[in-house]
Amino acid sequence: MTITYTHNGYWQITDIIGGYLKTRTYLDYEQREAAEAFANEFGLDLTEELLPCQTCGVGVPADTWLEELEFCVQCQHNYFKEEN
Ligand SMILES: [Zn+2]
Repeated sequence: MTITYTHNGYWQITDIIGGYLKTRTYLDYEQREAAEAFANEFGLDLTEELLPCQTCGVGVPADTWLEELEFCVQCQHNYFKEEN
């Protein structure tokens, strides 16, 4: 699963499901809502989908990734330590 925010202002989610590339776009959705809609449509479990941490690139379960603002837990902790 990949989630990107397009310059047109919508979320685009793609994933390979059953051997086919599936793409959906979501306008006027929060990122989490878009991910949940995609997961619901295709019967995916967000706790099993891995998304890359934006800092270290490690695969993070999608539900955690959404909560941690696209970081893994470790990088999120480091990020907010630096802020304070
Ligand atoms: Zn990380």
